[in-house]
Amino acid sequence: MADANSSQNSITLPLMPLREVVLFPRSMVPLFVGRVSSIRAIETAMEKFDRQIFLVTQKSNALTRPMDEDLYQVGTVTRILQLLRLPDDTIKVLFEGLYRATWTPDGMVVQPEDIETQIQMARVTKREEFCIPAEDTSELVRSTLETLDEYSKLNKKLTAEIVQAISSNDNCGALADAIVPHLRAEYQKKQEVLEETNTAKRLDMVFELMLREITFSNTDKAVKHRVRNQMERNQREYYLNEQIKAINKEMGREEDPQTEVNDLEKRLKEKNMPEEAREKGLRELKKLRHMMPSSAEYAVVRNYVDWVLDLPWNELKETNIDLPEASRILDEDHFGLDKPKERILEYLAVQKLVNKLKGPILCLVGPPGVGKTSLAKSVARATGRDFVRLSLGGVRDEAEIRGHRRTYVGAMPGKIIQSLRRGKFNNPLFCLDEIDKLSADFRGDPSAALLEVLDPEQNYSFNDHYLDMDYDLSQIFFITTANSLHSIPLPLQDRMEIIKLPGYLETEKRCIAKQFLIPKQLEANGLSDKNLRLSDLAVVDIIRTYTREAGVRNLEREIAAVCRKTAVQIVEGNDFDKVISVTRQNLHNFLGVKKFRYGEREARPLVGACMGLAWTEVGGDTLVVETALMPGTGKVETTGKLGDVMKESARAALSYIRSRSDVFGLRSGFHKEIDIHVHVPEGATPKDGPSAGITLATSMVSALLGIPVSNDIAMTGEITLRGRVLPIGGLREKLLAAHRALLTKIIIPKDNEKDLKDVPAEILKTLTIIPVEHVDEVLPLALEAGPDGIFPGRLDAAAPLFESLKQTTTTPIEAPAHPQ
Ligand code: ADP
Repeated sequence: MADANSSQNSITLPLMPLREVVLFPRSMVPLFVGRVSSIRAIETAMEKFDRQIFLVTQKSNALTRPMDEDLYQVGTVTRILQLLRLPDDTIKVLFEGLYRATWTPDGMVVQPEDIETQIQMARVTKREEFCIPAEDTSELVRSTLETLDEYSKLNKKLTAEIVQAISSNDNCGALADAIVPHLRAEYQKKQEVLEETNTAKRLDMVFELMLREITFSNTDKAVKHRVRNQMERNQREYYLNEQIKAINKEMGREEDPQTEVNDLEKRLKEKNMPEEAREKGLRELKKLRHMMPSSAEYAVVRNYVDWVLDLPWNELKETNIDLPEASRILDEDHFGLDKPKERILEYLAVQKLVNKLKGPILCLVGPPGVGKTSLAKSVARATGRDFVRLSLGGVRDEAEIRGHRRTYVGAMPGKIIQSLRRGKFNNPLFCLDEIDKLSADFRGDPSAALLEVLDPEQNYSFNDHYLDMDYDLSQIFFITTANSLHSIPLPLQDRMEIIKLPGYLETEKRCIAKQFLIPKQLEANGLSDKNLRLSDLAVVDIIRTYTREAGVRNLEREIAAVCRKTAVQIVEGNDFDKVISVTRQNLHNFLGVKKFRYGEREARPLVGACMGLAWTEVGGDTLVVETALMPGTGKVETTGKLGDVMKESARAALSYIRSRSDVFGLRSGFHKEIDIHVHVPEGATPKDGPSAGITLATSMVSALLGIPVSNDIAMTGEITLRGRVLPIGGLREKLLAAHRALLTKIIIPKDNEKDLKDVPAEILKTLTIIPVEHVDEVLPLALEAGPDGIFPGRLDAAAPLFESLKQTTTTPIEAPAHPQ
């Protein structure tokens, strides 16, 4: 601290410390003064120092009684312009800065009675300025004034007049002093400016402070803007949400839709699924947030998200193939079916070796009720997969497989995806039932979509129209079932490995009933095996007279009916240990009158009625072809729901007969005088196929010649115009049906002889099989000679010719030894 006396310019003045304020020369500042010592200092200045007082800022604003060292070294000598005493004992003073000065303590004016009121006196020395010439600072001044202009826009207190007044300062030191009081800078910074004697440097400092404030202010503004926006948005959302809640409450809707959406979002994020699916789901959720929950679109989008969430995407059930165990399970669930089971085990073995599912799809083909679906179910059990079943019967629209696009009202995913949603895993065993019942129309061909589903090269990215993204089907084990092969589209057949399940023999049915169906139905109807004794003969009777089928579905149904009746008797008698015996004699009490005649052959040979063998979707069957003649004009009528092929067979048969009319002794042109009506009874069942050719011909010849057809003979074979007999399909099934019908002599096409190896020996034992190549061989076998060997009716005339035909007849063949 400089010696007070060393300078002549020094004067003594009362000192008043300032808190957080720096007063500058040439500025006028009003201040409120409350400290008693400060008021005293001002009063002293007013009274004794010609209104002059030295103001200096204290370094720390926390001190109420600062010591000398607590004050800065440089302060400002000011004049008191105005003084106003306020009612609360404070005073408002207007100071005018005169010049900057340094100071040294100059004793205290002590009021001994009151330490509070003692005044610090200071010896102050004017601080000389180091003025830089105006031409060197003109650039700085110009920029400062420009910046001041800009700054004035941020600081409202800087009015245009003030700016103008400030700008009128010609030297840069004064300009700096005029600007600083208006800045919002901290008092420490302002003190630095006060202490600076180099005028250019001082203006530079002010310029910098001003710039800093502008930058701060801009950033501040941007931040404020952002914060305000955010706040506004939050407030808006909050407000709207509250409104929605209130509306929901008003309408009695408990659940808040936003919580619902939040919940969906959480589930979407947590679920194990491909990223594509997750992103798509989240995108839809975003839409959902902005929708009214009661709107139709909300339901549509919500539904879609539900689908995405409910589908198993990556959930693989642990599967394992243990061949001995698989074989045990297949045997446990099904009697017989050795060949299909063997083929399935081969398939599983290969799968285990190659460790993937690539390979043909298995297709189980057979009549209804032979266990195709339940075999597929067993395979699922044997491989540890879940079982999913989809019936394709009646599916005629591609969209049923592949789904509708979401633009359609009420759009849904296709049946494949629908079935998968019901399960938890995406590697189930998927049974596509009745693939032969697919049909195509103008709406598209579902088999084309199925091709993609079943093709291992493509199905890892199956695109359902509704989901509109790829779904991986490649982990699914597909098995298809069909009743007949011929109605499966060829490209589909191409992708499948066919396993045939032929119908069961009576003995097999008996075993299935005993080992599987009866125990199953007893359990299903709450009976114990002691409650019901179903005799073997009763079971045989059920098979023969209450069912007529290749499979065992109706057999199971009839057994269930017996069980129900038993249950009624037990519950009515209130004796739960009661034993009910069902025998051949009392079976009708349980099942009512017999539904079928066992052995449908006619009681005696009839004219115009010939027994044929058919192979339908429900297995083999016998069918009678009847022909009636009446005077007419040569019309041929066919009834009995015959298909086109069968109708054509009838015409071919007639043409054959006409071409051989001389042999049969028929007048040429005979057909012009009569109408021929061919009928196949059980008219409600559609029938088609070429294999009734020889039956039709025999029936017509019989009617035309009036010779009855033998009633223990049945036949099957396609006929050509020249009477040749062509091979047919389904021989095994047909022979089973013939056996069921107690027929003994069966005429078959010679070319089918090779198929006899598939027919169980026990069946062949009961039949006489006669292979033929020509219808000429059939007629002498089928048409009955009279008791005296003479053919009755009109054939009498042609008897010698007919006799000659008979000579050429093939002899019946012996049943081949059959390994069983
Ligand atoms: P499909 O699918 O061939 O029409 P299902 O699989 O529905 O026939 O079979 C019908 C019923 O017959 C099922 O209850 C099944 O368990 C039973 N069944 C069929 N074949 C056998 C068999 N070989 N052993 C045991 N039960 C059988």
